[in-house]
Amino acid sequence: MFVRKSPPDTVIPATEGANADSLIRIRDLNKHFGSFQCLFDINLDVALGEVVVVIGPSGSGKSTLCRCVNRLETISSGVIEVAGRPVPAEGRELARLRAQAGMVFQSFNLFSHLTVLQNVALAPVKVRRLPRPRAHALARELLERVGMADQADKHPGQLSGGQQQRVAIARALAMEPKVLLCDEPTSALDPEMIQEVLDVLTGLAAEGMTMLVVTHEMGFARRAADRVVFMDGGRILDVAPPEQFFTDPRNDRAADFLAKVL
Ligand code: ADP
Ligand code: MG
Repeated sequence: MFVRKSPPDTVIPATEGANADSLIRIRDLNKHFGSFQCLFDINLDVALGEVVVVIGPSGSGKSTLCRCVNRLETISSGVIEVAGRPVPAEGRELARLRAQAGMVFQSFNLFSHLTVLQNVALAPVKVRRLPRPRAHALARELLERVGMADQADKHPGQLSGGQQQRVAIARALAMEPKVLLCDEPTSALDPEMIQEVLDVLTGLAAEGMTMLVVTHEMGFARRAADRVVFMDGGRILDVAPPEQFFTDPRNDRAADFLAKVL
């Protein structure tokens, strides 16, 4: 169904490419929860069309990093820009930015009282103010893209976890985001459902969607990532193309981590 895009000729280092092509630009980000420092001096760029996969042990700050990008968390210091603009703390600009950075969570968070179609069409109607027929047409198109068109009239409770997550991805796409942030999108799924969700994400990557994906799925990281970011203890310890990261990790803690998970 999808064609894998060819890998980029040049790989952009974590902090290079601070130009118009950087969809996400993070500089010197620090994040505290009270007296606990969760993120330390994070610098990272995600270029237009790039897929960056974040891996690392539990508690290393991966979710918090994602959540800081669209301000589900406040930041303590540093700068985060999306599409060339600093992420504001609140207000209409923040809503605009959230629309540009769609988020897919581990728990799908679909509205159980709405049908699949209504879940996907909701934000286009309420936030983007599309006329209902147009929003529904868009929702059907997106459901087609994630292989869920035939389930449009069901309620989330009638679907498997993998199907619900595919609907959640369609819902995120319905805002026509510039970048998709995915925080462990397959961690809550039974093993047999993981691949169908990864296939959808791989397809989006092949179509050129910019993505920041936190995952423990090493096969996906290896195949779909343009760059892999390894985090531990709130720090980025390595950024590398998947080929290098998985065959010859430069960082000792990354090597230890891979020895445990591969
Ligand atoms: P990961 O996603 O890599 O497992 P998290 O970003 O969820 O890591 O958490 C990183 C660290 O920050 C952990 O030690 C976690 O306990 C802590 N943390 C996360 N959210 C909060 C919060 N709301 N309040 C206090 N500590 C938090
Ligand atoms: Mg997490």
